[in-house]
Formats: sequence, structure tokens, C-alpha cells
Amino acid sequence: MSSKNVVDYIIVGGGPAGSALAHRLGANPQNRVLVIEAGSGSDLGPRPPAPANLVRASSSGSPYMRHYAHRPYDTDRTEQRLTGRALGGSPTAPGLIWDRGGEADYDAWEAAGITGWNRSRFEQAFTAMEKNALGVTGGRDVGSPRRPEVPGPPDLASAWWIDALARHGIEAAEDLNVRHEQAAYASLSTWNGARTSGPRALLRGYGRRSNVRVRTHCEVRRILFDGTTATGVEAKTRRGTVRFTACREVVLCAGTTGSPLLLERSGVGDPEVLTAAGVHLVAANLYESVLELELTDYRAPGLYFFRCNTAHHSIALARAATPSIHHLEFEYDSLDDVGRAYDRAKANGEPISISLGRHMNDKAISFYVRNPSGFHLEIGCGGIEVGEHWVPHDFGVPDVWGHHHASANPFASPTS
Ligand SMILES: Cc1cc2nc3c(=O)[nH]c(=O)nc-3n(C[C@H](O)[C@H](O)[C@H](O)COP(=O)(O)OP(=O)(O)OC[C@H]3O[C@@H](n4cnc5c(N)ncnc54)[C@H](O)[C@@H]3O)c2cc1C
Repeated sequence: MSSKNVVDYIIVGGGPAGSALAHRLGANPQNRVLVIEAGSGSDLGPRPPAPANLVRASSSGSPYMRHYAHRPYDTDRTEQRLTGRALGGSPTAPGLIWDRGGEADYDAWEAAGITGWNRSRFEQAFTAMEKNALGVTGGRDVGSPRRPEVPGPPDLASAWWIDALARHGIEAAEDLNVRHEQAAYASLSTWNGARTSGPRALLRGYGRRSNVRVRTHCEVRRILFDGTTATGVEAKTRRGTVRFTACREVVLCAGTTGSPLLLERSGVGDPEVLTAAGVHLVAANLYESVLELELTDYRAPGLYFFRCNTAHHSIALARAATPSIHHLEFEYDSLDDVGRAYDRAKANGEPISISLGRHMNDKAISFYVRNPSGFHLEIGCGGIEVGEHWVPHDFGVPDVWGHHHASANPFASPTS
């Protein structure tokens, strides 16, 4: 194998995520970073995002976009989805709208457990990135490569639209990113009418680094594994199949469709789906392949118990209406401690989602409370330990006694 094909980090996908990550990893001059992009190295060019360009770029014959027939989970409906296929990723074609997003969503991420991902942290990040054509206002215009600007001159139809909204009480604003729920022209990720993008700024523009290489027209077909450790990728190029080795990590930035697709093609995913498609199974899922949890047992049609030490299980996953965490288990020292926790939960009005009972599989005596994220926490004691030679199996009957489900329980296990 050519030494050029051996690097420290392989990043699959040259969209915004891949470009930002390559730039960050390349800050250490010791790191050899390779970005592999399936599409071409060109984008729409520095043209303004005029409607005609957008239609051309996103039409089915466009070299910049890939069209997928997509069936939303649990429906019979088929939809068409678009993703980018060029250095620059999905923003190669769209409207380049610079939208900071809903502030409440960022706080929801922190509330869901991602410490530090909140509105004030993101506001700092946005202001550090922006150099806004509207000039300095509260927290804006710190200066950066990406420069949101408001397109002009305003077109008549949009002006009428904003006017009409104002007459219905939705205030007209100058900058939609300062306060949402107002009417305003969208800011664009352009400057003086010219397109900016992750690769333009970070891979090829001001942020270019000599230790970051980019291969375009190179489609990764599968990830190569040594056991369950990713060691490289196999890719299709114009000259045939090439293998690249990653001494440190393979990072997937291939988009919301491309990354899971590549994992499945490489043998990481739902065993039933992969077996039906004739793909050799490398690891059942993220929990086993990355977090190295082991499957202890399961109950058809879709409740799986995983352990991280000798205790029977720490987490159970359910394939219910949507794939979800069914519960996390906390093992207490004694039945009295479990009883006290039960009293505290009741006294504080916490929703007891499954009553006290004893499981058939781990023999623990426990109850479940629904946490604010919606899945259960199991509080129990007396669960069995699992030895090295344990064989995962379907344990069939769920309970020795008790464990009655509260009626309004969206994460109830599939067979209950
Ligand atoms: C039609 C459309 C309009 C949008 N409009 C806006 C907008 O106006 N404003 C906004 O903020 N956001 C917009 N978005 C969303 C935005 O584009 C995405 O959030 C963003 O691009 C995600 O970045 P990413 O790097 O994760 O993935 P992507 O941008 O999708 O990049 C993934 C890259 O990986 C490459 N890839 C995939 N599989 C492989 C493989 N096997 N081997 C090698 N390379 C591979 C693809 O070719 C692609 O270049 C829009 C998206 C779409 C589809």
C-alpha cells in the first residue's frame, strides 16, 4: 500500500462537518488527515443563490445532489430526499440560509444530558463565526470567515409578505437571528453576493493546512475492521478500488443518510436487516461496537438487555414504535434502600411507570420511574451476576410477580 494511503485520521465526507473536523484535527501538525469525498471538488461557484441556480443544482440530473427514495419509519409513505454530493456537502445546492436555529432546542439538548450544549454556548459560537452585513448589534459581528448577510435589494413579493405578516401582529425585524418569531429577510452565508462554504473556508481558503489532504471522486464503500476496531476504508475511485489505512481513527461525516448507510454496508447495524441483505455482521450496534457493552439476553419481539460488567444488565433497548432506550438500571444494596427510593419517588409525585415486582431474567426486585427524558429508570436490588460463558437467549416470561405497567407509558416494552 502506498504510504500516501496511510494516515492518522480518515474523515469520510467533505461537507460542513467533515471540513470543520479536518481543520480542527489538522491544527496539530503531527496529525496526517485525509478527507474522502464521493462527489467532485467543484460546487456551484461563487454565484448568488438565485432560484434558477437552486433548481438546477437540486434537479435529478444534477452532479451536486443525490436523490433518495425514503420511507419514514413506521409508514408506507415514500418521500424523495436530497443530500449533497460534492466537496461542500449538502450546502452545495441549497439557499445558504444562515439561521441560528431555535434557542429552546439547544437548551433541550442540555436538558437531555449533553452538558454544555445550551443556548448561551451556541450564541458564543455563532457570534464568533459571524461577521454580519447588518453591522454590530448585541453579540454580533465579532469577525470570522463565514459572513451572514441579508440579500438585497428586497424583492417586492417578500416585501408584501412581510407587510402582510405585520398587519397580523407579527413584527417586522431587521435580523431574524437576533429574535425568532418575527418576519425578516433571511440572512445568507455569503459575502458580497459570493457563496461561502466549509471547504471554501477551511479546506481550500484561509484555513488550508498542509497536513490535511482531500480526495474527491472517491466513494467509500465499506469500513475495514480488525475485530470491532475500524482500521481503514475501502473506496471506489475512477481508477478502481483503493484501500486507505487510519492509524488512529475513521470518522464518519457522510451526512444523516450517508453515515448510517455506510455503517450498515460495513456490517454494523440491526442483525435482521443485515442478514436479509447478505451483509456479514461485524457488530450489532453502537452499544456493542463502540461502547463495548455485551448482550445478556432479550425478549422477542424487541427488548434487549446489555451489561458493562458482571451485573446482569445496565441498559435495556427496545424496538417499539421508534427504536429507544427502554431503561437504565440502578442496583441498590438492599430491599430497604429500594423501598426508601420508592417512598421518595411517590412523595415527590414522580411517575411510577412500572410497579414493584421481580423479573424472571435477572431476578431483581425493582420498580421503574419515568425520567424527564421519557424512558424508565429501574431501581432494584438482588440482580444476578453473569459469568464469562453466559450465552444470550430469549428469556420468554418477563416476571415472577408484579411489574404492572402504568397505562400511559410510551416506552412500555413491546410485548407488555
Ligand atoms: C435541500 C437542502 C437544503 C438545505 N438548506 C439549508 C439552508 O438553507 N441553511 C442551512 O443552514 N442548512 C440547510 N440544509 C441543511 C444542511 O445542508 C445540513 O445540515 C448540513 O449540510 C449537514 O452537514 P454534514 O457535513 O453533516 O453533511 P452533508 O453536508 O450532507 O455532507 C456529507 C458529505 O459526505 C459525502 N459522502 C456521503 N457518503 C459518502 C461516502 N460513502 N464516501 C465519501 N463521501 C461520502 C457526501 O457526498 C457529502 O458531500 C439543507 C439541506 C438540504 C438537503
